[in-house]
Amino acid sequence: MITTLLAGDDPAAIARAADILRAGGLVAFPTETVYGLGADALSATAVAGIFAAKDRPADNPLIVHVADVAAARRLTRSFPALAERAAAAMWPGPLTLVLPRGEAVPDVITAGQDTVALRVPAHPVALALLRACGRPLAAPSANRSGRPSPTRAEHVLADLDGRVALILDGGPTLHGLESSVLDLTGPRPLLLRRGAATLEQLRELLGPVDALDESDAAALRRSPGLRHRHYAPRARVLLVAEGAGEAAVERALAAGERVALVCRREVETQALLLRLPGDLAAFGRELFAGLRALDAAGIERIVVEAVPEQGIGAAIMDRLRRAAAG
Ligand code: AMP
Ligand code: MG
Repeated sequence: MITTLLAGDDPAAIARAADILRAGGLVAFPTETVYGLGADALSATAVAGIFAAKDRPADNPLIVHVADVAAARRLTRSFPALAERAAAAMWPGPLTLVLPRGEAVPDVITAGQDTVALRVPAHPVALALLRACGRPLAAPSANRSGRPSPTRAEHVLADLDGRVALILDGGPTLHGLESSVLDLTGPRPLLLRRGAATLEQLRELLGPVDALDESDAAALRRSPGLRHRHYAPRARVLLVAEGAGEAAVERALAAGERVALVCRREVETQALLLRLPGDLAAFGRELFAGLRALDAAGIERIVVEAVPEQGIGAAIMDRLRRAAAG
């Protein structure tokens, strides 16, 4: 398969992408979080193509993207009051809601679960595509499974060249981190995945929201994606406290490793320095692109300094911990 790259703001490109999707093919497109790899969510064979292209484990369910709340309701058995409130305040936006699955949703999307994950993305290209093709789109991040999520069209090409028919280029994505995944099927809202919508924001909007306790096996079953390796560059990642970067770099250099230091401070170091912005929203926007650039530079060990675990910082730390565990 030859992969074509087209500007996402061109209506002819959107029309072509919609044709490919209606015919059961795959199209990568920008959202405000990261790039997604889309397929017609109502076609089990089209969706199977996503798993094959990404090498994604079949037990990791997909998020379904829709153009508006009405389209989301049609894919559920019930849409509780909290979902209405969350959708009214946050959609289009970086919040995914897990709800009782409707009959139209194929098993392959939900990994056999009785719930479905839904989101209205806030990117003009994603919305134009959803409207043009007139179908809900299953769209996980458009990376090879386990790799950092793509925040630019070139990242999609690097991972999926020859595996996706068309990539719509929308430039760098706004958040650079995935959506937050909120399960509304239990007695209390449960945040399954930290993301671009913060826990503080969700609590202010919805009242009590539980954060997933990953040491709780029963809770963990509600978030199948957590079982898998995630967000990892090829280089090994070492996460250290803010201020501890230089010492960790010295140990890596002594061990003969080609090392990079990722931090928010101005530091003197013999490592390749990737200084990310102090502002956490900007840090999040640049993180995955930075990890990919360090891979491309042939780095073997990435020392990353921790960031404060508030607001979007909690999502950043979640990704860094998983990258370090990779
Ligand atoms: P990705 O789109 O690659 O960022 O991954 C989608 C995320 O949503 C994964 O963490 C999945 O485990 C999660 N997810 C999708 N559907 C469900 C569902 N029905 N229940 C719980 N989590 C889900
Ligand atoms: Mg992903």
